[in-house]
Amino acid sequence: MLDLYRLSAAQLAAWLIEHGFAPVHAARLMRYLYRDGVADAAEMTDLPPRLRATIQRDTHLSPLKLMRQTVSADGLTRKFLLGLHDGETIETVLMRYEGRWTACLSSQAGCPLGCVFCATGQAGFRRNLTTGEIVAQAVFVNRTLSKQTRVDTRGQRRESLRNIVMMGMGEPLLNYDAVVAAMDVVCDRAGLAIGGKQITLSTVGVVPGIRRLADERQPCSLAVSLHAANQTDRARLVPAARIWPLDELLDACRYYTTQLGRRILFEWTLIAGQNDSVDHARELASLLQDIPAQVNVIPLNLTSGFDGEPGSHAAREQFSATLHEYGLPVSIRQRRGLDITAGCGQLANA
Ligand code: SF4
Repeated sequence: MLDLYRLSAAQLAAWLIEHGFAPVHAARLMRYLYRDGVADAAEMTDLPPRLRATIQRDTHLSPLKLMRQTVSADGLTRKFLLGLHDGETIETVLMRYEGRWTACLSSQAGCPLGCVFCATGQAGFRRNLTTGEIVAQAVFVNRTLSKQTRVDTRGQRRESLRNIVMMGMGEPLLNYDAVVAAMDVVCDRAGLAIGGKQITLSTVGVVPGIRRLADERQPCSLAVSLHAANQTDRARLVPAARIWPLDELLDACRYYTTQLGRRILFEWTLIAGQNDSVDHARELASLLQDIPAQVNVIPLNLTSGFDGEPGSHAAREQFSATLHEYGLPVSIRQRRGLDITAGCGQLANA
């Protein structure tokens, strides 16, 4: 069975021709699949009956099964545990920030990189997701959103997904081809029409992948999870640093920013006593002095496999203020969905 969600608009047109249909149906089919979120070919009434029958017979449109859903008390964060055809489960999160809905998508079932504070890393790796499984998460949350806003807003404009972050389960650059193909599909104007810059790909520092993003001039924004500004501390928190050491990572980041003229968002999970002091902030500022950068300070999500504590509010403020003094733009990630274990991997482990 073909997974239609893995096809770009051009591939969809080619598939139509191959099956004896006019490629002109591709645009309407894209609308059904992505904008309307139709998961049953019988509802695609603008398509010829023979095409609907072919879609029903040869493809599948619902690769994800909702296993569990949690909604934060403030209603701004929804987390979905989704089942795949082979029994694996992944997490997808929908969040509202500053009036826009953002989806946090998974790229792998589990993760092989084992960052010590991450629930997904603690649970190990199972497999890469396919392009269709990545795209289907975006379609799933967009469909959920449009159903919800149709019910909730009494005549207001229907809301849709505007931003995607590849920060769910898995390391996206270890599943490069599938992730990049999925970004192509969700950016297509006939489909979800998400702008390339509205997609942020977050990596823990897979150096060859960062260089490849630069060489291919991929339109997404890049976030790098740093968490420590020297090799020894970083290798303790992020075992992948033993494969791609800090100096090689920074070289790749310089290459990326030079090639593309874009800055990088560096993520820093603040852990009490481990990376939250003024000295840590100074070390970070010095490390990033020649790279166009912004730092995103992230409060630690507690997990059972890591005994670190989140940095205090005072430490967070002091850390950010120090970076500001050195001229580094800083943002502090809002804590979202704490009441629904919205940290990566927490719902699946539960
Ligand atoms: S933080 Fe990301 S890269 Fe690290 S273990 Fe978790 S999912 Fe993998």
